[in-house]
This record gives sequence, C-alpha cells and structure tokens, in this order.
Amino acid sequence: MATRSQSSPQSRAETEPEFVPLQRAPNVLDLIGNTPLLEITKLTEGIIAPTVRIFAKLEGFNPGGSVKDRAARSMILRGIESGALTPGKVILDSTSGNTGIALAMVGATLGYPVELVMAANVSRERKRIIEAYGAKIILSDPMEQSDGAIRLCRKIYAENPERYFKPDQYNNEANSLAHFETTGPEIWHQTEARVTHFVAAIGTGGTVMGTGRFLKSKNSAIKVIAVEPDDPMHGLEGLKHMASSIVPGIYHENELDSKIPIATEDAYEMVYMLGQIEGMVVGQSSGAALLAAMRLARTLREGTIVTVFPDFGDKYLSTNLWIGWQQWQQKQWQERLKKMVAKIIAKNLPTDIQ
Ligand code: PMP
Repeated sequence: MATRSQSSPQSRAETEPEFVPLQRAPNVLDLIGNTPLLEITKLTEGIIAPTVRIFAKLEGFNPGGSVKDRAARSMILRGIESGALTPGKVILDSTSGNTGIALAMVGATLGYPVELVMAANVSRERKRIIEAYGAKIILSDPMEQSDGAIRLCRKIYAENPERYFKPDQYNNEANSLAHFETTGPEIWHQTEARVTHFVAAIGTGGTVMGTGRFLKSKNSAIKVIAVEPDDPMHGLEGLKHMASSIVPGIYHENELDSKIPIATEDAYEMVYMLGQIEGMVVGQSSGAALLAAMRLARTLREGTIVTVFPDFGDKYLSTNLWIGWQQWQQKQWQERLKKMVAKIIAKNLPTDIQ
C-alpha cells in the first residue's frame, strides 16, 4: 500500500514503467469491479490521528456507474445458471435507481428485456439512463418511496409469474455473494490485509453483508459497521431507514458490530466538501458513508477504515442535493462576510468619541 506522503509528478514519472498495457475486456460485464481505493487525506487532516487512515472504494468507476453493477451481474448470471432465467423471459424488479441501471445494462449485454418499477420521484437522470439501455420503467407512488415500488412489483409479478424473472435484490443471496466474491477480496488485497474497519451505507444491505462477511472470514477482529439515515423521511436516495422499512431478507443485523445514523443535511454537506476539498463529486450516500467513517476515525488511535462511495454525483444534479447546495454556499458566504464585518468594526474608535 502506498505511504501517506504524496509523490511529486516528477518522482512518479521516474518510477512508472515505460509501457502501460491497455485494459481490454471482451464485454462490458468483465469491466465490473476492480475499482480503485482513494485515501481521504485533506478533509481529515488535523481532525483524525495520523495513524488512522480512511480509504473510499470508488464504485462510480463501474461501467453502469455504481456498486450495484456487482449485484446485478451476480443475480442474473446465477439466475441463468439455475435455470430460473431462460431466453424469452423478462427481467423484472423494483429499484431505487442504481440497481435498475445495472440490471438494464446487464440485460442489454445478455439480450434479455428488462422492466423496472421505481418510485416516481427518483432522479430524472436515472430514468433517462435506464431508458437509454432499452429498459421499460413502471412508476410507483412517490409518497411510499422504495417500499411502494416493492409492493407494486410483487403485484405485477404475482399476476403473471411465468413471464418474469425477478432477481429480487432484497431477498436474493446472490446480491451479498457478489460482494463476498469481489468487493471483499479487492479491499483485502488493496489494503494488503491491513483493513481494521469496514463502513458501508445500507440499501438492500448487500454491500455491507457480503463484504463484511468476507473480511471477517479473513480476520474476525475486523469491525463491520452499517450506516443508515437517522430518520424515516430522509433524502438519502438509495438508502433505507431499517426501523421503518420492509427489512430485506438478506440483511442480518446480528452480523454487524455497529450502526451509525446520519442526518440528511450532514451527508449533503459532506458531499459539498468532498467536491471542493478532495475533488470528488459523489452521491449523497457517499457523503453519509464518509461522515460515519470520520466519526468512527475520531474515536480510534490507529486503524485502517475502508468505506464505499457507491456512485458519483452526476445522477443527482437535478435533485434536492444540489438545489440545497446553492443555499448552503450562500449561507457559507454570508457567515464569512459577517465575520469579516465583525472583524473590521471591532477596531477601536478615536479616543475623543469613546
Ligand atoms: N448508495 C446508493 C446510491 C445506492 O443506490 C445503494 C443501493 N440501493 C446503496 C448505497 C446501498 O447498497 P446496498 O443495496 O448494497 O446496501
């Protein structure tokens, strides 16, 4: 693993091989996974002990743009293997967006039609991307969020089960297995077995369960920590507040060491800072994950925390996340200006007025 000191461009050029082979893949599915780890250094400087390191796994580098590519590939390939998905069937599922994109991509690659049920209020960009892969979208009641999509999807499936293959990401162990087989081993190798804590936000729970299980199988002392919205009415797209939700069948809370609740506004602020300070524009669940990782880091004397940034921020540009950003920036400016004014007027008056 690289040391924390940053190498200069010159020293990097000196050590790089002359020829860097191209990464080639026979199809898009082979480009899923092997995402890089980014060490978060600037945001944490002076806040956490120098002996504590935080790395974020950048899942936005997957071809469909999110961590869900791993689960979608695993569920569909296992469906074909088991004979549950045969040519002519339609892939049907409920999704908060990223799984939809991933299923649409995998379906297009393998030649299966895809139909997706999602809450009407998911971001416009997500709907458009799904359509670009040739998939069909069925909208559910936005007030019922992802649970409404789950219920409508169950109804559609029950009316015509022969027509569909339903990966059912909430109850399909192939979802967690994808992370047991790929995300976990990648983190283990990328940290050279130094990882001490794994922190991941929960939607279906696939990432935290599968990766956590793998890491604990390598070293049972590794702590696995889930991150969840602190309120049922949250704005963290893709995440679930478990106490008020239909609990996914693949989510086993007893395997976790701890859970960290995060407020929507705090996660959003972390996203703004990540963009401006680390040069990383990510989705809101990444903000939540990093905030939890940093809160955890403050309690440690040493350790290597790995968290997951499930996607990049481009899909959210038309959502509350970035509408809120303008207000946030305005507030920052106002506070800065007020401080400047307070500093200027604090100068002493001439003695004859005092
Ligand atoms: N963040 C985002 C943006 C997501 O779309 C999801 C999946 N819904 C998650 C985090 C959580 O991933 P998982 O389903 O593996 O718990």
